[in-house]
Amino acid sequence: MDLRGRCESIRACLLDIDGTLLVDGKALAGSRELLHGLLEREIPFRLCTNTTRASLQRVTEQLQSQGLPVQSDHVLVPSKLAVRRIQASGKLRTGFLVPRDTRQDFDGLRAVHENPDWVVVGDLGPAFRWERLNRAFQWLRGGAQLIALQKNRCWRQDDEWRLDAGPFVAALEYASGQQAELMGKPAPAFFQLALQDLEAAPNATLMLGDDLFSDVGGAQQIGCTGLLVTTGKFEAESLKAPGAPTPDGILTTAADLLDYLPSPG
Ligand SMILES: [Mg+2]
Repeated sequence: MDLRGRCESIRACLLDIDGTLLVDGKALAGSRELLHGLLEREIPFRLCTNTTRASLQRVTEQLQSQGLPVQSDHVLVPSKLAVRRIQASGKLRTGFLVPRDTRQDFDGLRAVHENPDWVVVGDLGPAFRWERLNRAFQWLRGGAQLIALQKNRCWRQDDEWRLDAGPFVAALEYASGQQAELMGKPAPAFFQLALQDLEAAPNATLMLGDDLFSDVGGAQQIGCTGLLVTTGKFEAESLKAPGAPTPDGILTTAADLLDYLPSPG
């Protein structure tokens, strides 16, 4: 089925933020039109980001500062799933390797520095120092379970590729022999949380993003339509990588999505 045919049954949208709607914190051309277009068509959406450098509130403010019509309810961050996961376990003692600003998203958990039941890792950037990693390693040795908010390899800022949280999660996995439980994209649980929030069925939902594996592959894995946008971190070679998912469509900019959705009625 061609993309237009596929989009006829779409009732809900999931959109990536970095590289799809914003680049270096600035709205890409067409981001506003896209979100206004979805609101006009009454197609509910969630912005699904793996960002752990900023709190939900700050992510929302950033989007609003760029004139995007969103509220915090529209935004899904991996910390939301992590809090649910930890609360459901009944053990709340948590050791954190997450930036200070993001800590506010973990209200309801008990932050400890000794003998935690959980170690939660987000992107600390330059604060991923040996001392903090080694302490986390000791927590894991002591029996704590490892949660990775995201496991992205790298990201791009100011035209430069940078290490993301993934390599540090991998270091902790390697040292402890324990596999981290992943909260963010492409974890199926993250997409399922979004669908639950939207009360949408996978076959009536599409995901649009610039990451072939996390966005497109992750969404397709649970039965959603996965569309790739050629902004942000998109690289044509990634489509030929071994095991690469095949997008259901490739768009030049996020706003092109409106050409495929039914006109507002
Ligand atoms: Mg992205």
